[in-house]
Amino acid sequence: MIPFNKPYLTGKEASYIASAMASGKLCGDGPFTKKCQQLLERAYGFRKTFLTTSCTDALEMAALLLNIQPGDEVIVPSYTFVSTANAFALRGAAIVFADSGADNPNVDVSKLEDLITSRTKAIVVVHYAGVACDMDAILSLADKHGLWVVEDAAQAIDSYYKGRPLGTFGHLATFSFHETKNISCGEGGMLVVNDERFIERAEIIREKGTNRSQFFRGEIDKYGWVDIGSSFLPSELNAAFLYAQLESLEQIQARRRQLWMQYHQQLEGYVEEFGVQLPQLPMYASNNGHMFYLVCRNERQRSKLIASLKEHEIYPTFHYVPLHSSAYFSDKHDDRELHNCDTYAECLMRLPFFVELTKTQVTQICNLIKSTLAERVALVEAA
Ligand SMILES: *Cc1c(COP(=O)(O)O)cnc(C)c1O
Repeated sequence: MIPFNKPYLTGKEASYIASAMASGKLCGDGPFTKKCQQLLERAYGFRKTFLTTSCTDALEMAALLLNIQPGDEVIVPSYTFVSTANAFALRGAAIVFADSGADNPNVDVSKLEDLITSRTKAIVVVHYAGVACDMDAILSLADKHGLWVVEDAAQAIDSYYKGRPLGTFGHLATFSFHETKNISCGEGGMLVVNDERFIERAEIIREKGTNRSQFFRGEIDKYGWVDIGSSFLPSELNAAFLYAQLESLEQIQARRRQLWMQYHQQLEGYVEEFGVQLPQLPMYASNNGHMFYLVCRNERQRSKLIASLKEHEIYPTFHYVPLHSSAYFSDKHDDRELHNCDTYAECLMRLPFFVELTKTQVTQICNLIKSTLAERVALVEAA
């Protein structure tokens, strides 16, 4: 049996959790939280980081920080996870969904400007599969129209645009440490604040709207309710687990990139003639080995491939149901067709991808894909 995902353990998680337990400090913002934040700030040059309990929470913090309110419009890709849009919908914003590009599921930058109105407050971009969006174009558009940019970098740890780390471009950026991501602590996330003006308020919003962090640093005598906020900080137990993973970031990433190349090498030159596309990385984007996906010719071909792999107890999976046509949103969407987004929803298939996947297993998966595709042709030719 080859599952779609298997969380990787470095071996140090349990001892770090034990040491957090022994320290008597279990709530948030203790030594492990600080170590995680420092490590990430140093490794990637993030101006300021805040661990959160999820990327969803980090996105909700972003919506609060940007003062999103009813009457505002926020541009969000439709081909993404619910939280990218939901965080802004929670504040009462009207969500304006953007289509993906033809080459990869990232937002089609050439169509963004048409979506901007006098009510637009922010553009949220998603680096799908850890592949960078065209940040120069997005930032210059945002600059021209005076918009905030939020990077949903949930899948994009250790990935780059023109050599610069993703998560350093937006005024704000969010990461996920959910068990399906490259670096994980089960459920976890991080808000990156690149614009200094948001740092102080981010700290308050994350601590239930109080200035408790300033109090703990000895900057004020007593703390109280100074703004709206919620409880967004993870416990030290989660941070201890996460720190073990972060210490192994290089090894984890090296292995994941290697796996990605193994898939690519074994499928390239074989699947294209059946109308199956391999992932296409723009010149400006690095590859962080988050995911390996195929874009099938059509939904029927994808179903056939999935069924054939499942027969051999291999579990690939499709991905997002477009948010613009979701049960919650479809009656709120304007009538624009988001053609590329619909294509990825129907045709994209993700293959098993996790650190402990072996080269032999990758070969087994690739051979099955090739033989299933070839079988179809054989049948057609026989008929
Ligand atoms: C995983 C993911 C999220 C949600 O992350 P959580 O940490 O589970 O809240 C949000 N956006 C994208 C693009 C994701 O891939």
